[in-house]
Amino acid sequence: MREILRLLNITLEEKRRLLLFFICSIFVAFFTYGFVNLIQPILDNMLNYESQTATQKTRLMDYVFQHLHISQQDIYWVLPLLVVIVIFGKGLFTFLSTLIMKSIGHRASKKLRDELFEHLIYQSTDYFDQRSTGEIMSRVTSDVDKIQQAVSGSMGDFIREVIVLVALLLYIFYTDWRLAIVAFVIAPLAAIPLAIFSRKLKKRGKQSQARMAGIYEQLYESITGSKIVKAFTMERFELKKFYGATKSFFKSSMRLARIESLSSPFMEFIGGAVGAFVLYVGMRRITEGYISPGDFGSFVVAIFYSYTPIKRMSRANNVIQQGVASYERIQDILESKPKIADHPKAFPLPPVKGKVTFEDVSFSYNEARPVLYDVSFEVNPTEMVAVVGLSGSGKTTIINLLSRFYEATSGEIKIDDINISEVTLTSLRSQIGLVTQELILFNDSICNNIAYGLEEMPFERIEGVAKAAMAHDFIQELPEGYDTQIGERGVLLSSGQRQRLAIARALLKNPPILILDEATSALDSESERLIQIAMTNVMKDRTTLVIAHRLSTIRNADKIMVVDKGKIVEVGTHDELCQVDGIYKKLYDLQFPEEKEGLS
Ligand code: ADP
Ligand code: MG
Repeated sequence: MREILRLLNITLEEKRRLLLFFICSIFVAFFTYGFVNLIQPILDNMLNYESQTATQKTRLMDYVFQHLHISQQDIYWVLPLLVVIVIFGKGLFTFLSTLIMKSIGHRASKKLRDELFEHLIYQSTDYFDQRSTGEIMSRVTSDVDKIQQAVSGSMGDFIREVIVLVALLLYIFYTDWRLAIVAFVIAPLAAIPLAIFSRKLKKRGKQSQARMAGIYEQLYESITGSKIVKAFTMERFELKKFYGATKSFFKSSMRLARIESLSSPFMEFIGGAVGAFVLYVGMRRITEGYISPGDFGSFVVAIFYSYTPIKRMSRANNVIQQGVASYERIQDILESKPKIADHPKAFPLPPVKGKVTFEDVSFSYNEARPVLYDVSFEVNPTEMVAVVGLSGSGKTTIINLLSRFYEATSGEIKIDDINISEVTLTSLRSQIGLVTQELILFNDSICNNIAYGLEEMPFERIEGVAKAAMAHDFIQELPEGYDTQIGERGVLLSSGQRQRLAIARALLKNPPILILDEATSALDSESERLIQIAMTNVMKDRTTLVIAHRLSTIRNADKIMVVDKGKIVEVGTHDELCQVDGIYKKLYDLQFPEEKEGLS
């Protein structure tokens, strides 16, 4: 019951629809009540039973017939007509109430999805570090689906059936409360297994959803990493893992299936037993003359009708439990706040010249292992600074902190002498152009990929940055030029081409600070030459931080910083650093003359 209230809470914003649903449900109950009442005159008339003598109570139908002055003759056509009307009315309002509830469910699920996505899109980077894509995706897709089903179908059923049940109980107790008590003394027997079933179902439902997410995850990883899988001939290994995931899903599905399948026959059996017992007592009540056979007929029909709501309620219960499990799982997303957000007093960073200062900055992704130790440096406006060092030394981390993808554990990072933790994220990031190794291109046209996020950008500017990024020529050779659609995640382009598109995209913002994180690492020498030109084009008039894989690309840097194990160990120009016998010189010697790839 508590769970239903929680689900109901989601729908509360649809107050008017909910009210309409209640009204329709009351009509359904009313017509069901009417139908049950019709059984009595039908049976007693057929049996020619002098029914008035059997009971002192006024029956609904006796009342109706008397007030409408319907004679004994007319009853023969009035009764069937009433049956048709009552059944039609019940059907009509069942239809309306179902439709209304479905629309409430679909509305709620649209809102939930939007809300989830809103939470996700603003999450800080570390949120996605800790969770798998498949898992998050199944929250937004299948969990919301489950909630929609619970609200649209089952919750509506549940509420409507409760109202119908109340109407039927009123009839049952009014007709013969002694017989009713007999019938309902054994009814709690049916409630006990219901409680046990619903608890089990909830547990199993949760388990099987978690395992489905496992399959999803596995699938996603294998598809996105299909190249790696092939390259390492890991097909059999991946198959084994997948078989494992489907097997455990199968097992939990079967456990769920057993409980689900058992639920309905078991309830039916209990219903049957109750019926048999009532039949026995009822026949005695007729022979003793307390009720007419028609009353008993109506009574039994009412009992059977009230069995349907109970059955439906138990079935609805299953789906509702699953919906609630899903609802609990999405709470994690709905309740999580982005770790990195604007401070209450954050102000927009005014347009900057591009001075970047790090003062004793330390950082760790997780408490256990520090990644940066007391990093301090200063970059003047329009300078080009290169960061070099072995893979894993912390170069990307420095960049991550500057864009506030993560927040420094201690120390201060300033742009134009303004602490970046005091400004709004949007104003900060809009002034930083970022080209990373992970080149995310979207399934859209080249033009829209370059103009990502910048609506109504004049085409001349897009073409301009493409030219500066040395991408214009290859774009023109594509079948539809700038309107060419890039395949899913840009697979149709070479990595050098994608890299140049990414540079063009970063340039379009015309940012005062430009960061190129190993933007030249995945390239052949022709692409590298082009990007070299592109970079010289784009570095003019802005502060540029280049993390370089190939040292040839940074020889002209104003300053080179060497990072080693989270510390800046050497700073200077190329010539200066070659003088000292340090890490830079070693790295350089490694790459030249033999051009060995000793760096990253
Ligand atoms: P580089 O760019 O110099 O190759 P990074 O800055 O990417 O190095 O990484 C520095 C260290 O931080 C590495 O040891 C890496 O394993 C760790 N690291 C990088 N990103 C994360 C992350 N998202 N979560 C935890 N540790 C990370
Ligand atoms: Mg890196």
